[in-house]
Amino acid sequence: MKAPAFDYVKPKSLAETFDLIERHGDEARLLAGGQTLMATLNMRLSQPGILIDITGLAGEAALNGIREEGGVVRIGALAKHREIERSEQIAKSVPMLAQAVPHIAHIAIRNAGTFGGSIAFADPAAEYPVCAVALNADIVLMSKQGERKVSARQFFKALYETDMRPGELVARGEFVAQKPGYRSVFMELARRHGDYAIVGVAAHAKVDGGRLSDVSLAYLGMGGIPMLAKSAMTALEGKPYAPNTVAAAQNALAAELEPNADLYSSAATKLHLARVLTGRALAALAGA
Ligand SMILES: Cc1cc2nc3c(=O)[nH]c(=O)nc-3n(C[C@H](O)[C@H](O)[C@H](O)COP(=O)(O)OP(=O)(O)OC[C@H]3O[C@@H](n4cnc5c(N)ncnc54)[C@H](O)[C@@H]3O)c2cc1C
Repeated sequence: MKAPAFDYVKPKSLAETFDLIERHGDEARLLAGGQTLMATLNMRLSQPGILIDITGLAGEAALNGIREEGGVVRIGALAKHREIERSEQIAKSVPMLAQAVPHIAHIAIRNAGTFGGSIAFADPAAEYPVCAVALNADIVLMSKQGERKVSARQFFKALYETDMRPGELVARGEFVAQKPGYRSVFMELARRHGDYAIVGVAAHAKVDGGRLSDVSLAYLGMGGIPMLAKSAMTALEGKPYAPNTVAAAQNALAAELEPNADLYSSAATKLHLARVLTGRALAALAGA
């Protein structure tokens, strides 16, 4: 199938972009890396009247680059997956993302797809959203009226639904740089490397002599949004890494994850895989 006819415009400034968004309203769709949007257009799942190509905004500092200031790492919406994958700053200060990005599709897609596009699309099986939830990052939205900051834990509302309002775009993500004593682990299971994952876990904690605190566990592919496993986190909080604490966390998952069966895996299989990944991730976190 081919995409339906649409108009196309490539603004050179944010001001021009916001004017276009205002003028065209629901008819407009932002185009970033196109790695999701072009497929949905070709399948006619989306039929916008006009595409506003924001890749011409490379000169807008607000949407570009990876910067660390005051212990916060800012990732611009137009940063490509590959840029994040190769960033020394990310490897040092947000190691969970460095572990997660190589799982996103293939290099050709990572060369084009953007951080902002992935956050805005809010696929529950995508890697950035679950890392942002696990690390309690902020999503910064921008509109004609200025900036608005939303915690990633509040941003993802339902399947492909976010807190973004009409007239807003994703400007950047803000991640607290990993503090001394903390560790991060990202793991996922996919049928083939580069496929969207069946299940994935993003784990973060302070690790002190095998004792875990300030624990965060979030899952992809286990519900309509990235799922924060609060009961499992509580089961681990302040406890030493040991078979009984791991089992308590694994047992807590059934009550709070909401996997849907897909073409290949039943909900029960997904839950089993989540338990297995949790065991592996906690062992890696504790250095066991
Ligand atoms: C074969 C294949 C496999 C893939 N596998 C994975 C995978 O395993 N994991 C994964 O996470 N992703 C995967 N992807 C998706 C890929 O990561 C996309 O690049 C990403 O989801 C969307 O980013 P984009 O820049 O291409 O956005 P686009 O496709 O250009 O846009 C996607 C949506 O976001 C909106 N949008 C874009 N930028 C902004 C912004 N700054 N503010 C507000 N709205 C915006 C657009 O209007 C559109 O609705 C895969 C894609 C393909 C084609």
